[in-house]
Amino acid sequence: MKSTQFTRRGFGRFSALLGAGATLPFYNEAAMAQLSMIGPLPDDAVKINANENPLGPCKAAHDAICSIVAKGGRYMYEETFSFAKTLAEQEGVKPNYVTPYPGSSDPLHRAVLSFTSPSKSFVMGDPGYEAGDRAARVVGSKTIRVPLTKNYEHDVEAMAKADPNAGLIYICNPNNPTGTITPRAKIEWLVANKPAGSIILVDEAYLHFSSATAVSDMVAADKDVIILRTFSKLYGMAGLRAGAAIGRPDLLAKLQTWGAGALPLTGMIGAHISLKEKGLVAERKAIVAGVRNDVFDYMHKHNFSFVPSESNKFMVDVKRPGGEIVKAMAKEKVFIGRVWPAWPNHVRVSIGTKEEMAKFKTAFTKVMAA
Ligand code: PLP
Repeated sequence: MKSTQFTRRGFGRFSALLGAGATLPFYNEAAMAQLSMIGPLPDDAVKINANENPLGPCKAAHDAICSIVAKGGRYMYEETFSFAKTLAEQEGVKPNYVTPYPGSSDPLHRAVLSFTSPSKSFVMGDPGYEAGDRAARVVGSKTIRVPLTKNYEHDVEAMAKADPNAGLIYICNPNNPTGTITPRAKIEWLVANKPAGSIILVDEAYLHFSSATAVSDMVAADKDVIILRTFSKLYGMAGLRAGAAIGRPDLLAKLQTWGAGALPLTGMIGAHISLKEKGLVAERKAIVAGVRNDVFDYMHKHNFSFVPSESNKFMVDVKRPGGEIVKAMAKEKVFIGRVWPAWPNHVRVSIGTKEEMAKFKTAFTKVMAA
């Protein structure tokens, strides 16, 4: 099978894994959040560990989702197609350059399975979002982690040089966990200077919170670029599931070989309505920035050092093993994010509501003073 890396040997290894009782390793932020090993959360918990959006779907999406439930006995594929058409129009690409998915974890995994192999590595920033590495392990691909620059950007020059046989180079913009931006010019440079045959995967899960610009025009220009979008973050639909891959049809076709089936009608309708909701992105971006700036003022006032993020999460340097603070905060019923091996003294904190962040501040002051 030339079109994918799914060789007979690969299939054998994959079946053996599943036979041994493993589940399909399709990780997402919620599964990753469990790496913090905090167990079930109490009802009055402040849950700022998984970069979720406490606002949930916007009112128009909420209402549309509720009213479609009665028709849920139908597949209604046309809703998926019209969501894709609207997204394509908004991004300036042809309709067949967009494939909807139930979130972006799914196409992220498919991209790693499609474009990496034991001889074609997966290259990512460090610290970076771990899900791609999980997929790389399934097919025996090597993950090469390239430290972020001192400005917390992806080090595109080092990433381009990391492996002449790189299969997939993953740029998360803004990055998870740091919330920092890699300037567009750097991504353009990478696309022009990447190893021959490699694909650049630009994960724009957090794009709408930031000043970064989308790279849809690179896709429209038929570059070797695939963009991932999710409705789990700004659009507040993490549990409802909607997302998309945007890329050249020949690249998207490779992702499609790894699965099949209809998408959730509720997710597709919610995403489509959200896209059409004028002013929604600006409104929610401003809400998150307001709460984030308030927390950053608090951080400055208490001399805590943190990474200046443009997203709905940020990293704090707690100057001791981060896991200790995660546990101590959990005792205060404030559940913050996990620790990355590359930065063992940092913890990731998601931006919740104003009220949740007030509880965060009280608990953090107490825990850091202990
Ligand atoms: N990409 C990044 C960087 C993420 O942080 C996440 C989730 O947090 C995802 C992709 C996938 O999210 P979902 O599968 O909910 O769309």
